[in-house]
Amino acid sequence: MIEQTRLFDCQSSNLTQKLTFYYDIEKINRACSNCDRCTLSQKRQQVVIGRGKIKPDSAHVGEAPGKQEDKAGQPFVGESGMFLLKMLKAVQLDSSVYFTNIVRCRPPDNRKPTAEEIKACQPYLIDELRLIKPKIIICAGATAVAGLTGKRESITSLRGKWLDWEGATAVMPLFHPAYLLRHPSLEKDSPKWQTWQDLIAVKLKLERIIASEIRN
Ligand code: URA
Repeated sequence: MIEQTRLFDCQSSNLTQKLTFYYDIEKINRACSNCDRCTLSQKRQQVVIGRGKIKPDSAHVGEAPGKQEDKAGQPFVGESGMFLLKMLKAVQLDSSVYFTNIVRCRPPDNRKPTAEEIKACQPYLIDELRLIKPKIIICAGATAVAGLTGKRESITSLRGKWLDWEGATAVMPLFHPAYLLRHPSLEKDSPKWQTWQDLIAVKLKLERIIASEIRN
């Protein structure tokens, strides 16, 4: 397949770099493995590439790899990733999933990725999502929502409200699973209780999307 290039303004180096449009997930992953577009590359153990099904029911976009992910080279394998999977299982949303992050290298001390780092990684994420074609995208936390959609609001105001990506794919913002682990209450209106409502909304929307795909 012919690969096109695009101009990408890399603020960190003040250079305008030529980047490839990727048409193949393996090529994205290979490019990520050698990536040094931002300084996160200097401290990583491994690049954390996406994992899961192609054309999944849902793609889960996190903020950044943590310690376990950096070690394993895979997203959502640490404590908060396991907790997310447990929640997905509870609402039977775990069978057709894909996991990725806004940035693919661990920020030191688990700090939030900077705007520059997010921008450097964005072409990978955009092409990855275009290639895997999820029916629904779930963003874990405000940084993931901002990195994907540009919407910069608190997760408390964003969660539970449908957004869209590229005008076509429904996006549901959720509380980050690490935040939910720190707020274990299940009482009505607690963050965990709200997340159950959000996951049920995802499940219902998914069922509608699948029903309409079968009809057409
Ligand atoms: N694991 C990830 O890969 N990303 C997150 O945002 C959280 C846990």
